[in-house]
Amino acid sequence: MKTKYIFFTGGVVSSVGKGVTAAAVGRLLKERGFKVAVQKLDPYINVDPGTMSPYQHGEVFVLDDGAETDLDLGHYERFIDVRLSRVCNFTTGQVYAEVIQKERRGDYLGGTIQVIPHITNEIKRRIGMVAKETGAEIVLVEVGGTVGDIESLPFLEAIRQLRSDLGRENTLYIHVTWLPYIGATEELKTKPTQHSVSELRSIGIAPDMIVARSDYPVDNSLREKIALFCDVELRAVIPMVTTPILYEVPLLLEKARVGEYILERFKMEPRQDPDWAAWKDLMLEVKREKPLVKVALVGKYVELHDAYMSVREALKHAALHTGVELEINWVHSTDLEKGKHWEDLRDADGVIVPGGFGSRGIEGKILATHHARTEKVPFLGLCLGMQLMVVEFGRSALHDDDVHSTEFERSTKNPVIDLLPEQREINDMGGTMRLGLYQCHLVPGTRAARAYKVDMVEERHRHRFEFNNDYRQVFEENGMVFSGLSPDGRLVEIAEIADHPFMVGTQFHPEFLSRPNHPHPLFKAFLEAVCEHAGVNYKKAD
Ligand code: GLN
Repeated sequence: MKTKYIFFTGGVVSSVGKGVTAAAVGRLLKERGFKVAVQKLDPYINVDPGTMSPYQHGEVFVLDDGAETDLDLGHYERFIDVRLSRVCNFTTGQVYAEVIQKERRGDYLGGTIQVIPHITNEIKRRIGMVAKETGAEIVLVEVGGTVGDIESLPFLEAIRQLRSDLGRENTLYIHVTWLPYIGATEELKTKPTQHSVSELRSIGIAPDMIVARSDYPVDNSLREKIALFCDVELRAVIPMVTTPILYEVPLLLEKARVGEYILERFKMEPRQDPDWAAWKDLMLEVKREKPLVKVALVGKYVELHDAYMSVREALKHAALHTGVELEINWVHSTDLEKGKHWEDLRDADGVIVPGGFGSRGIEGKILATHHARTEKVPFLGLCLGMQLMVVEFGRSALHDDDVHSTEFERSTKNPVIDLLPEQREINDMGGTMRLGLYQCHLVPGTRAARAYKVDMVEERHRHRFEFNNDYRQVFEENGMVFSGLSPDGRLVEIAEIADHPFMVGTQFHPEFLSRPNHPHPLFKAFLEAVCEHAGVNYKKAD
C-alpha cells in the first residue's frame, strides 16, 4: 500500500485546536487498524522551540530521541498513544539551515537557490521521511499558523505539489476554521471560513473536508452554506463545538463519521472496527460527580497554562484513574516571595513544582517546597522541582542557607546541584542539554519502586544540572533517599524524603509519558497521597 497523507491547514484565527483535531483524526485511523504518525511543520525561523520562552510558545515537548518539539506533539502522542520521533516536527529554520549548508558544500552545482523548488523540495523530503522512519501507513501533517501568513507559504506550496506528486487518492486536505458568534444578532458567521477557503484555493489547495470550530451549536443550514460556498461535500463539513473535555474530540469526530469519509476517499477498507469502550468509560468518569482535591502548581509561567500542558494533562489522567475531581491552584512563585497568594498554596492537598530555567521565582519555589516538607503535604518535583527540593532539604540538613544550585548561584558554598560534567565545555544553547530517554534503576523498597512496580524504567530528560554526588552521603544520613539512579549509579534520577507521606522529585519529566488511559505511575502515586492527605475516598490501585 502507498503511504497516504492527510494535510491539516488552519483558517480564520489561530489556537482553534488544529493540533487536537489532527491528533483525534489520527486516533480514528489507529482504531481502524492503521499505523499512523503525525508531523507538525512550524513556520517560524527558530531551529526548534528549545530556546524559545514558554510565554511565546508554551511547553517544549521532548521525545524519546531527545528532540525538543512543539507542544502539539504532546497531543499527538497522548491521543494516539504512539511514540514519535525527531522527523515529526520541523521548522523553517531547519529547512533553510539544511539548504544553505548544501549550497555552501556546492551540492547545487552553481544553480540559483530559490524558495521554489529548493526550499519546497527540502520540505517535501522531510515530509517523506516520516513514513520511512516510523513505518506509518497514514501520515498526518499539520501546517502551523493560519492560511494567509507570509511565512506559511512555502509549506502550503509544498503540500499543494504533493497532491500531483502522490496522486489524488493518496492525499487529503482538511481545513480547520472558526465560526465567530455575533452577539447582537445571535448568529454564527461563515464568511471568514469562506474567505479563508478562497485564500487557500488561490494558492491551489481545494480542501476535501472542513472542520468548523464553534462555541455554539452549528445547525444544518450553516453546514449547507459552507458546503455550497466552499465546494466541499456536505458530509465533509464537520462542525466541532467547543467541549471542555479534550478527550471527547475523537468520539465527536467518530460520530460525525470522519473516519469512514477519510477511508472512502483513500479507497481503503478498515482493518478492524474501532473499539471506543475505554474512551467512553473515560468520558463517563469525567462526567461523574467525584470528590474534589486541590493541587497547587507553583511555577513562573502560570498565567499561561500551556506552558505546563503535559504536567496538567498528566495530573488530569491520574485524577481520572484515582476517581477524583482535580482542581489546580496556579500559584506564581514570585507572588510567594512577596508574601502573596499563600492561601492558594496552603489550601491545596498537594504541591507540584514543575521544570524551569533561570532565576526568576526560584526562592518562591523553594518556599513552596519548604511548606510541603515541613507541613507534610504530598509533593512532586519535576526536574527543576527535584533540584529545588534538594536545595531546600540541604539548607535544613546542613544548617546553612548558603546552599544552592550553581545554575542560580555560581559561587555558593554548597553547590548541591551542579552542571553535568559533560555540559562544562558547551557554549551553544540550542539542543545541547541531556535530552531524551535514559534508563533509571529503581531502588527496591522505595516509594518510587513501589509506584512503578518494576526495577528499571526509561524516562525523558531535558536538563544541564544534576545532583552533586559529594553530598550524597550527608543527605542520606539526614533522611533523603536516592530511589532512582542511572544504571552506572553515577546520576541521581529520583530523590525522596524518608520521613514524609510523599515527597518525590525526579530529574526527568514523567509528564511526557502519561496517557489518558495509562496514567503515569508517579503521578498516580502522588494523586493517591493527595487523596490521603485530603481525607477523600479514592480508587486504590489494583
Ligand atoms: N534548569 C535545570 C537544568 O537545566 C532544570 C531543567 C528543567 O527543569 N527542565 O538542569
